[in-house]
Amino acid sequence: MLRDVIIIGSGCAGNTAAIYTARANLKPLVIAGHEPGGQLSLTTLVENFPGFPEGIDGPALVENIKKQAEHFGAEYLHGTVVEANLSKRPFRLKVDNEWHEARTLIIASGASARWLNLPNEQKLIGHGVSSCATCDGFFYRGKQIMVIGGGDTAMEEANFLTRFGEKVALVHRRDAFRASKIMLERVLNNPKIELLTNTVVDDVYDASQNLVTKVKLRNVKTGETWERSVDGFFVAIGHIPNTAPFVGQIELDPDGYVISKGGARTSVTGVFQAGDVQDRTYRQAITASGAGCMAAIEAERFLEAEGH
Ligand code: NAP
Repeated sequence: MLRDVIIIGSGCAGNTAAIYTARANLKPLVIAGHEPGGQLSLTTLVENFPGFPEGIDGPALVENIKKQAEHFGAEYLHGTVVEANLSKRPFRLKVDNEWHEARTLIIASGASARWLNLPNEQKLIGHGVSSCATCDGFFYRGKQIMVIGGGDTAMEEANFLTRFGEKVALVHRRDAFRASKIMLERVLNNPKIELLTNTVVDDVYDASQNLVTKVKLRNVKTGETWERSVDGFFVAIGHIPNTAPFVGQIELDPDGYVISKGGARTSVTGVFQAGDVQDRTYRQAITASGAGCMAAIEAERFLEAEGH
């Protein structure tokens, strides 16, 4: 079946694009992806999405946006795009073992946080382990915070988190930093930040309490290990955009993010992008939703101009 629009990804960007394209009668098919619900499905309370004065649980928020899209006729398919052919139209996507065709595509497949792969890390996501200081910093007022990483994101998050935490420990595996000089200097000049270099985390505890209480650290030079009390554990070691099936088909930057060609447009006419798959700067639920709306409007106008 040839679709007017297929949306790849079911986070805030994809689900919002689904609401708009469904209300435009385009009967979108949404490919849910390997992390249905996107980054919000990994969070707990979201307090900065407008319209919810008491806040709302991340998974509930993204599920509500999906229900809103389904209400207008959007269809969801569980599965992951494993292959794509964007060289001619209609565009073709292989979802698991089945090919699907569409006149337009909206790529909203997001970027997944890179994790440390510690034994207990995944169990504690949303319970003290986070990949987003903007989202979760507020919950650690007066608490002990730890940030992992040596890039600009880690520096930015460590500085930001000193607004909340009593103390912020910044843990980096080397003693040289990938971060820009100015960002590093801000960290060095911040009396609330303690720098632990040549140090890695062996594990985070306590999964049995469903709460972060401490971490086990190791100095990679001396081999010494020790434990340290922590309440908020922020992993800031980069993101991986989910663009593997599109490599060589649309323009991506060296890190794999989709390059915007103005608004929601990409290098391929009829293929649009929305959310964290293109945005390495803002990465918020509300900006992803806004981008999903933009991509839907672009797809709708594009189809209308072609007489569909
Ligand atoms: P990044 O520059 O790739 O840095 C990732 C950091 O995480 C590196 O220090 C790396 O250590 C460390 N790391 C990676 N895997 C690790 C592991 N398994 N265990 C321990 N540490 C690990 O990523 P980013 O900081 O997210 O920045 C991404 C891009 O966005 C950069 O171009 C950055 O400049 C930009 N950015 C800019 C701003 C700004 O200007 N305001 C803010 C944020 C981000 P090694 O160094 O040892 O490899």
